[in-house]
Amino acid sequence: MMKVKTKKNKSMSKTVYNFSAGPAVLPDEVVDTIKSEISDFDQGMSVMEVSHRSSAFKTYAENSEDNLRSLLNINSDYSVLFLQGGATYQFSMIPQNLSINNKADYLVTGAWTAKAANYAKYHTKTNIVSNSVDNNYTTVSDISHWNLTDDADYFYYSSNETIHGLEIHEVPNINTPIVNDMSSTICSRPIDINKYGLIFAGAQKNLGIAGLTVVIVRNDLIKDKGKDLPPLLRYQCHSDAKSMLNTSPVFAWYVAGLVFKWILDKGGVSAMGKANQKKAKLLYEYIDKSNLYSNPVAKKYRSWMNIPFILSDAALDERFLNEANKEGLLNLKGHRTVGGMRASVYNAMPIEGVKKLIDFMDYFQSKN
Ligand code: PMP
Repeated sequence: MMKVKTKKNKSMSKTVYNFSAGPAVLPDEVVDTIKSEISDFDQGMSVMEVSHRSSAFKTYAENSEDNLRSLLNINSDYSVLFLQGGATYQFSMIPQNLSINNKADYLVTGAWTAKAANYAKYHTKTNIVSNSVDNNYTTVSDISHWNLTDDADYFYYSSNETIHGLEIHEVPNINTPIVNDMSSTICSRPIDINKYGLIFAGAQKNLGIAGLTVVIVRNDLIKDKGKDLPPLLRYQCHSDAKSMLNTSPVFAWYVAGLVFKWILDKGGVSAMGKANQKKAKLLYEYIDKSNLYSNPVAKKYRSWMNIPFILSDAALDERFLNEANKEGLLNLKGHRTVGGMRASVYNAMPIEGVKKLIDFMDYFQSKN
């Protein structure tokens, strides 16, 4: 049974808040459970020592899949896969498995979709329907301006661009199967799974730790597809083998299972959604009314998960980061390609962390 603790207490008495974009903060309760279970997962063996094919782990794996299915309301039309290779590996597996007619549409709204589109070129004819690079990834053109292909094998986008903090809050109304990179937004609110052909997410943000990638794919899209691919590259083979074609990332899967359970215990993805919206609102409202900080993303597309902000005087960046660090506000530096700051406020970031950040930002503003 998970213990409930409200504050992270890592270095003796100091509360720290980790705003990293990933690997990212885990719920305190999950870390506590890992600590208490670490030496005995099965018959005195730790989870790091057990076989993925042991009955104890198989049962655990099945329960974790059931929990994720109930969290996101995933019906039996979909396979849930627990894979390796990171989210980036999906940039290749998706076109390899789904691009049957050699035509795929990509909506580029930030660094990750740009990269995915580039990777896809190795396997399919890639059409960019719209590219937000023209506005520095701060907004998305209206769907009526997208250059969509009528008979594309799939439409690819990411509902949340982790680096640029741009989020598409509604699923685009597209007839071709929709593929969504949800690495930084999965389980952060309810979704309608039936709108998607495939969604995927690296686990190291909202689902636990690095080493595991969750793929949820509609069975008809993978059935008898990719027959020319080696088994390890084929979704159908992973689905048939219950994600155990080869040695599974047992520890990362175990942690994801604890995170699913934690989300369920906290009231599911709708409770996460309410809390996440509240945290994001607080921080954006403060940024918008401040003199020192600004966020460049169009309001409609602002992310609930990754909130970049720049200081009006970049010469203050280093001081900001040093002083924040001393206050226990960690990993606020923006991505190297964007600069400035970024606060990632995934499910496991408590509202107290956001309030403390705002108090610090306000104090720093008053001094500078
Ligand atoms: N997509 C998105 C939206 C991401 O944020 C990331 C990682 N930050 C990736 C893909 C790549 O993930 P990985 O490092 O697991 O390959």
